[in-house]
Parts: sequence; structure tokens; C-alpha cells
Amino acid sequence: MDLYSASDWYDAEGLLTDDERLVLGRLRDFLETTAKPLVGDYWERGEFPYEIAQPLIDLDLMEPAELTANRTRPARGLYHGFRIFELARTDASIATFYTAQAGLFRTAIRVGASEEQKQEWMPQVIDFTLKGVFSLTEPEHGSDIAGGLATTARREPGTDTWVLDGAKRWIGGAFTADVLAVFARDVADGQVKAFLVPREAPGVTLEKIHRKTALRMMQNAHITLDGVRVTEADRLHNVNSFRDVAAMLRAMRSDVAWIATGIQAGAFEAALRYVTGREQFGRQLGGFQLVQEKLARMLGNLTSSLALVVRLTEQQEKGVYRDQDSALAKMQTSLLMRETVALAREVVGGNGITLDTEVARFHADAEAVYSYEGTHEINALIVGRALTGQSAFTK
Ligand SMILES: Cc1cc2nc3c(=O)[nH]c(=O)nc-3n(C[C@H](O)[C@H](O)[C@H](O)COP(=O)(O)OP(=O)(O)OC[C@H]3O[C@@H](n4cnc5c(N)ncnc54)[C@H](O)[C@@H]3O)c2cc1C
Repeated sequence: MDLYSASDWYDAEGLLTDDERLVLGRLRDFLETTAKPLVGDYWERGEFPYEIAQPLIDLDLMEPAELTANRTRPARGLYHGFRIFELARTDASIATFYTAQAGLFRTAIRVGASEEQKQEWMPQVIDFTLKGVFSLTEPEHGSDIAGGLATTARREPGTDTWVLDGAKRWIGGAFTADVLAVFARDVADGQVKAFLVPREAPGVTLEKIHRKTALRMMQNAHITLDGVRVTEADRLHNVNSFRDVAAMLRAMRSDVAWIATGIQAGAFEAALRYVTGREQFGRQLGGFQLVQEKLARMLGNLTSSLALVVRLTEQQEKGVYRDQDSALAKMQTSLLMRETVALAREVVGGNGITLDTEVARFHADAEAVYSYEGTHEINALIVGRALTGQSAFTK
């Protein structure tokens, strides 16, 4: 059976238009022929294949001209979702790298910038001439960032200059960014604000986080901000409290749910390819009942996840954005992803722990996706709060 149709069991892609499928087909060809052959070696070395970055940008995928009547209207949410799915089905680091700009940074600008700022920056975000990253997490504050955020912003009296001090951790894509969207607490009113800090500004130091066992290709930075000066013009004028940051997270969690779904497709397809190719006891692995049961479970997880993200995206297209919706999607798709990649690794046997069969990479990378953009527990608590009206984050 054709692997692509096997993993889209209920034809979710049938919801796309012909033009959208054409653009995504361009991406699929590029990933198959150019990116896929590179990822095993780069993963092992813990480096990103930057030679694919510009060709990927040149595919014009963020707001493709043919889907947006030459950028006069935005592409549909489902297109964006399937673009993330397609990237993650090949590699989670490539999906995360692209989404750092197309999801995280773009969302920071879309939600946080004033209309005038958006007019200036958004076209550059879309064509990648202004590359940025989302710098929220800190060394001492991950899940409790809302209340704990400790990076400070001080406005120099009588000037339009702000001075930032603090540290950020895990920031994906920072090494190749032009600017870092840094979230800091204004010492004057105690509220969280956001600033576009040039990566090379005096006082900014980036250190690579080494020895990762997941998303090894993705480069994550530990960032130190020591008396970094930025102007009021580079502050995102619509970010005036953590409530505005939460609005960004709502959109970004949906993107990660699509990543968790794409990873399942990649792992399932690699596993299916393997078990229909290898024989034991004189017959194909795929012919054994116990292997088929695992294939069916993987497909069930993947199909449930796809149905979930498609419906979530349709709701968001209608303007329904609730914290609990994207939290539920991120939580559930990640839970199913963890089982799917483990089953994929299992049916591939010993070869499932080498980078040659692909499932090992998906299996390892899934652990990072499981934890970023809100851990399982934090997303469950967001859903629990909506269900009961009681916040259970502390005690
Ligand atoms: C590969 C990778 C890329 C990332 N990229 C970015 C990025 O680009 N930008 C950015 O800002 N951040 C990024 N992050 C950070 C990510 O969002 C955080 O790792 C995540 O929010 C969890 O924070 P933490 O790792 O500090 O875990 P902690 O908050 O220390 O949590 C540890 C454990 O305790 C649990 N826990 C915490 N509080 C509670 C509670 N109240 N009740 C029950 N359990 C609880 C958690 O669920 C988790 O299991 C990235 C992380 C990774 C791993």
C-alpha cells in the first residue's frame, strides 16, 4: 500500500484545495530528495543542515503567492497545519526550525506588534529577511514562567531606552536569528513586556546547549542579557502583561500539536516500510498478528491526532481561540505520539535504535516535543482549570 495514503487513512488532505496540495507537493519533493538524505548524519553530529535553509525559504511556503493572491489575503489555517505536518513527517528538527520563524516569531509579531510595527515587520517576517526567535523560557523558570519570569526591563528616566538584564534558556534557532523577541518584566509596573533585541547587540551572549538526546539537529541557545539597551521603537507595543503572551501560546500550541501528528506519520511510515521488507521465520514481519496489532494502534493514534488538529484548526479559523482547546490538542497528540514512536521503534527491533531506519530519530526527538510548548502536566492543568473552574497549578 502507498505509504502516504496509508498514513492519511480518512483522507484529511481531501480538505485541501488543489492549489494547496500543489504547494505542499513541492515541499514534499524537496524534503524527500534534498533534506531526507542529510538528516541522519547531521543528527548524529548534533548540527543543523544549514544548506537546506535557503532552498526551504525559497519555496515560499509561509504565505505562498499562489494561495494568497500575491499576498493580498492570508493562506488558510489548514494549509499552515499541513505544512507543519509535512515538515515533521520528515524531521522534527526541520519542522521546529521552520516553525520558530513561521509560528513562534510570526505569532509574537502578529499578536504583539502595533499596526504600524506590523506593517513594517510582517512582510520581512514572511520572506525571512527579518529572522527572529521567541525567548520566553528562563534557566530557573519553565512551567511557572507566567509568575516567575525574572528577566528585567528598566526604562531609563526621560529617555526612550530600555535596559534588559537576565537569562533565557532553550531558545531554538537563536544562532541564525537577526533578532530575539525577549520577554522581560518591567520593574516599574511588574508587567511582562516584549522587545526585539538584535542578536549581536552589546551585552547579548549565546551559548549552545550541548549533549542533547532529542532534536539534536535543532540548535538551542542559553542566552545571557547583561545591560542590553533597546529602544522603545523595538518594544512590541501590544504586549502589556502575561495575558498577551498567553494569547501567543494559544496559537503556538496548535502548531506543536501538528508537529506531534507529523512525527507519528513519519514514524508509522518508516515502520510500515520496514516490516513489509524484512522477513523472520520465513515470512514478512508484517504478516505476524502481533506486528499487525501494533501497526493498527499506530495508525489509530495518528488518525485520531489528525482528526483532532484538523478540527482545532477549523475552529481557530472561525475565530474560536481558547487556551483549553490548544492545550488539549497539544497534550493529547503528544501522548499519542509517545506511544506511536515507541511502537514504531519496537517493530523495527534492534535496527530501531540505529539512525538508518529513521524510527530511532523520531523516537528520540518525540521526547523534546513532549516537553516543549507546555509539558503534559501544564496542558492538562489548563484543561482541568477550564473543566472545573479551579486552578490547580500550585499546592
Ligand atoms: C528542544 C526544546 C526547544 C525549546 N524551545 C523554546 C523556545 O524556542 N523558546 C522558549 O521560550 N522556550 C523553549 N523551550 C522551553 C520549553 O517551553 C520548556 O522546556 C517547557 O515549558 C518546560 O519547562 P522546563 O523544561 O523548565 O520544565 P519544568 O517547568 O522544570 O518542569 C519539570 C517537570 O515538572 C512538571 N511540573 C512543573 N510544574 C508543575 C505543576 N504545577 N504541577 C505538576 N507538574 C508540574 C512539568 O510538567 C515537568 O514534568 C524549549 C524546550 C526544549 C526542550
